[in-house]
Amino acid sequence: MRLTKTVGQYYFGKGALAQLEALVDSAPEKGTRRAVFFVDHFFDGHPLMNRLPVTNHDQVLFVDTTHEPSTAQVDALASLVREAGDHVSAVIGVGGGSTLDTAKAVSNLLGNGGQAADYQGWDLLANPGVFKIGVPTLSGTGAEASRTCVMMNYEKNLKLGMNSDHTVYDRLVLDPELTATVPRDQYFFTGMDTYIHCIESLAGRYRHAVADSFSHAALADCRQVFGSDDMQSDDNRERLMTASFLGGSAIGNSYVGVVHPFSAGLSMVLGLHHCVANCIVMNVMQEFYPRETEEFHGFLERQRVTLPTGVCAGLSDADFDRLYDATVVHQIPLKNALGDDFKCRLTKDKVADVFRRM
Ligand code: NAD
Ligand code: ZN
Repeated sequence: MRLTKTVGQYYFGKGALAQLEALVDSAPEKGTRRAVFFVDHFFDGHPLMNRLPVTNHDQVLFVDTTHEPSTAQVDALASLVREAGDHVSAVIGVGGGSTLDTAKAVSNLLGNGGQAADYQGWDLLANPGVFKIGVPTLSGTGAEASRTCVMMNYEKNLKLGMNSDHTVYDRLVLDPELTATVPRDQYFFTGMDTYIHCIESLAGRYRHAVADSFSHAALADCRQVFGSDDMQSDDNRERLMTASFLGGSAIGNSYVGVVHPFSAGLSMVLGLHHCVANCIVMNVMQEFYPRETEEFHGFLERQRVTLPTGVCAGLSDADFDRLYDATVVHQIPLKNALGDDFKCRLTKDKVADVFRRM
């Protein structure tokens, strides 16, 4: 049994961004204010920058989210912060899952020293990081609420987060106005991360009553959003922000299932981003999640979103071996979904067959 930690304090609603200044000033760190803002590069030169409470003492670093965060990128950003001065009063992440995770990781490094790769794993951080505030601009990953920050480690061929209570944000500003500019497909793919996490968790063997309730509530929101005519209406953006927060809050006490391991295989071997990879996998999950796969097809159709197809066409046998390894390495979710003997069901041929259908 684990002592659950979630984000306890947050502002929610349209216009909540106006509260950010007071939150930055409320940082408990002693000494003068020096806040470091990590902002998704989409907002470089965007009017949003004039609404962020940045003072002369603060630092703004744009996060290049062309690729998902890596340990090398996090180390480089942490160096930039340290070079500009020892003292940091607050770290603020403004963006989607990639930027939110980057800010969490740098905060942890500032509080613990060392390199990002040192803390990839479970409960490896001895100290809390610097006081941190999350401001999501894209809904779905739940990174704003979860206790991890996922990073690619290219040297070790590993995608893993710093799983720790210290990784949980201290405060959040959840303002659905900030997701108004998200491109349609991105909005769908990232939003589906919540849906997929929740259906995987509810179909799993390990259960937690509170996580289940969060998942049910998040799924109801997702169904309303993606089953409607305009998934990006004001109300639906608010709904999806709620679902993402609830889904992320459930993650600490639940496990994913078959989709995420296959999706991780696509990310590791083909470099596909987490959320689009999830959708590509979900599209062919008839055998494992029949009802939900059908429902997902309905969402795709209703929202007129098209998925990349044939992503594994032309791959060699060696590539399929790597895909298999990068999938079955995720034992915990696969045991959660299929039981301890999951490899009897997920033979090499079966896994290759699933990938070929994507
Ligand atoms: P992202 O942060 O990678 O951003 C995707 C794209 O959307 C980028 O091009 C970005 O510039 C753009 N974008 C973001 N906000 C925008 C806005 N308001 N307007 C216009 N464009 C905007 O996307 P994501 O799907 O939110 O995050 C994916 C990452 O999250 C992956 O690295 C994944 O591993 C991680 N993740 C973390 C957790 C967790 O619990 N920590 C859970 C799931 C996924
Ligand atoms: Zn996910």
